[in-house]
Amino acid sequence: MFIIDAHLDLSMNALEWNRDLKQPVATIRQREKNMTDKPDRGKGMVSLPELRSGRIGLVVATMIARFVEVNSALPGWHSPEQAWAQTQGQRAWYKAMEDGGEMIQITNAGGLEKHIQLWNDTAIPDHTKPVGYILSLEGADSLVNLSYLERSYQYGLRALGPAHYGPGRYAPGTGMEGPLTRAGVELVKEMDKLNMILDVTHLTDEAFVQAVELYKGPVWASHHNCRALVPYQRQLTDEQIKILVDRNAVIGGVLDAWMLKPGWVRGKNDPQTENITLDVLIDHYDHICQLAGNTDHIAIGSDLDGMFGQEQSPYDMDTIADLQLLKALLTKRGYSEQDIENIFYKNWLRFLQKAWGAGI
Ligand SMILES: [Zn+2]
Repeated sequence: MFIIDAHLDLSMNALEWNRDLKQPVATIRQREKNMTDKPDRGKGMVSLPELRSGRIGLVVATMIARFVEVNSALPGWHSPEQAWAQTQGQRAWYKAMEDGGEMIQITNAGGLEKHIQLWNDTAIPDHTKPVGYILSLEGADSLVNLSYLERSYQYGLRALGPAHYGPGRYAPGTGMEGPLTRAGVELVKEMDKLNMILDVTHLTDEAFVQAVELYKGPVWASHHNCRALVPYQRQLTDEQIKILVDRNAVIGGVLDAWMLKPGWVRGKNDPQTENITLDVLIDHYDHICQLAGNTDHIAIGSDLDGMFGQEQSPYDMDTIADLQLLKALLTKRGYSEQDIENIFYKNWLRFLQKAWGAGI
């Protein structure tokens, strides 16, 4: 079955992890065998051949670069201009993937329709099809000022999450408290004019409420699980889930072990010992379905290789292609074929068709 994954940091892996994502995952792991600079070396799960073999034909792909004060403990750039330049390098990588026929950027309903048709065409082998990507910006720090948002829209940026981790020029993020900054309020208003998709993932509780009230356009939570199951601020409260359901939002279930089960200690715990499997994600799906009364608001936003690899992912997966295993697991848990289609691609597809208007 076709899959849409709404959160992958592909260009970050290409440029900051120095991964050639044209290669199979096994090759990339082999190359990293003796590297120790990052905890997930040799444990990556995502590359373009695996996306194709798992029929993950459309992804929301990020650009990501943080601004930090000189004394900050977080990694990042010391000026917004440097962060901007980093995102432009990431964008250049996506463009190079397009030039090589590896990927194709999707920016409107017409392009979306065409791309889905291509992936539905069984006469063409999947391994020759380009992976579609919708460009998203995770954390808005790199937008030097609002004119950079318009510029970004022109080159195809279609979704934006104002926050990531830590303070943030437009919005405080994960681990923080407080509202959008003054610039963040202006940013959200400007996004509305451009009909961009507001990604609420990583917003603080206060900024979440503020942003969804301010913003009239399409809202999603690209990679987000439930706080009722894993009590941490990074997760969605039941109240937030209800607000999202009322807004016709879709929530992408995320496969970071830290967000699947409570008590996970990064760098310490092991997915096998903690029994982290794909099935645990379905607990989060079940919870959202109970609140929504249907399966229209859950989908996939895996975040695989989002600064972690196999050491912090469900152990019944080897690569991202194993997302297909969810089908049997969901069936076993009582989800119908229609429900599974919703989760695999139809919910994101409907969301995008509505956000962009058919035929544009
Ligand atoms: Zn994230």
